[in-house]
Amino acid sequence: MAENKKILLYRIDEQAKNVIFVVIEDDERLWGNISEDMQTVLSFDEIFRDITEFRDGFLDYEQLTDELIEAINGRGAIFREILERFDDNRLNSFNFFTRYYSDTLREIFLSARQEIDKAGAFHNTRVLKKTTAYVNEVFNHIREVMRDDWNFDFNSESEMKSFRLSFDKIIIRGNDRNDIYTVADTALVNFFYDFSFAIHTRMLYICSCKYCGKVFLGMKNAVCCDGEVCQATYQREVKNAKRRERDNSTYKVYRTRLSNYIGQQKTKLPAEVLDDPALVKKFDEQRKVFTKQMQDMLDEYEADNRLPDKELDDFYEKMKQEVMRFVYALEAEAE
Ligand SMILES: [Zn+2]
Repeated sequence: MAENKKILLYRIDEQAKNVIFVVIEDDERLWGNISEDMQTVLSFDEIFRDITEFRDGFLDYEQLTDELIEAINGRGAIFREILERFDDNRLNSFNFFTRYYSDTLREIFLSARQEIDKAGAFHNTRVLKKTTAYVNEVFNHIREVMRDDWNFDFNSESEMKSFRLSFDKIIIRGNDRNDIYTVADTALVNFFYDFSFAIHTRMLYICSCKYCGKVFLGMKNAVCCDGEVCQATYQREVKNAKRRERDNSTYKVYRTRLSNYIGQQKTKLPAEVLDDPALVKKFDEQRKVFTKQMQDMLDEYEADNRLPDKELDDFYEKMKQEVMRFVYALEAEAE
C-alpha cells in the first residue's frame, strides 16, 4: 500500500525475560543499522499486562474501528472526526498493543481513504468495495486473534491444536552481532504464539503479587513480582520467617543456654568491673562475639541438617570455658 511500508520485528530473549520490538521500514538496506533508540524493550510481565489490558478493552476498540470502517467512504469531515478520536485513543495509551494496532490500522485506513478519494469514491463502487474489504480483512484478522483464547493460554492444558504459520526471519550478521528478528504479521498472531511458547519454555505461570496485587509471570506458586518495593518487602519477610524458624528449632536451646550462662556471669562480676563503664562495654562486646560463634556453629548444623550430637555438646562446654576465661581476664584487668 504505502510506499515505505513499516514492519514490526521482534526478538524474544528468554533468558532476560524480555522482548525487543523494532518498527522499521520494509527496506533491507536499513536493517543493519538498528540503533538502541529504535528498540522498545518490554519485559514479559509488561507484555502480559498490556495484552491483558488490550483484550479487556477490545470491545471499545472494536467499536471505534467499526465506526471508522463505516465512515471510510463518508464525508471527509466525518471520517476525519472519527480518525481524530482513534488517534486520541492511541496517543493516550501507554499500551504497546493499542499503539501498534492503531498505527497499523491508521496507515491502512489512510491509504484506503486516499484510494477512494483518488477514484472519486462516491462513483467508484469497485474501488470502494475493494478497499473496504481489505480494511475489514485486516481488522477481522486482529479480531480473530483477540477472540481466540488459545493464543493467550500460556499454561496450556487445553486440547491439541495443529497449525502451520508462515512468517519471515530477518537475520542481521556483522559487527559482533548475530541477531535474528521475526517479522510480525499484521495481526501479531505469530508473536503471540512465540510469546506463549517462550513462557512455556521458561516454565512461567500467571501469578498474582501478594503485595501490590499485580499479575506477573513467575515460577509456579511465586508470590512476589519483580517490583523493587515488593521485592524488598518479600526479602524482609523471608528473612523474618527464617529467623522465626531458627528460634523455634531444636538448635535454639543451645543459644539460649549460652546466652543465659553469660548473663549469669555478668551479674556475678565484682563491683570493680561493674563500676567501670569501659569494662562493662568490653564484656557486652565479647558477649556478642561468643553468641555469634555459637550461632555460626548452629547455622552449620542446620545447613547440614545435622541434629545436635556429642560434638555440639562439647562445643557448648568449650564455649562456657571460654566465657569463664574471659571473665577471669576481665577481673584481673580491674584489679
Ligand atoms: Zn508486586
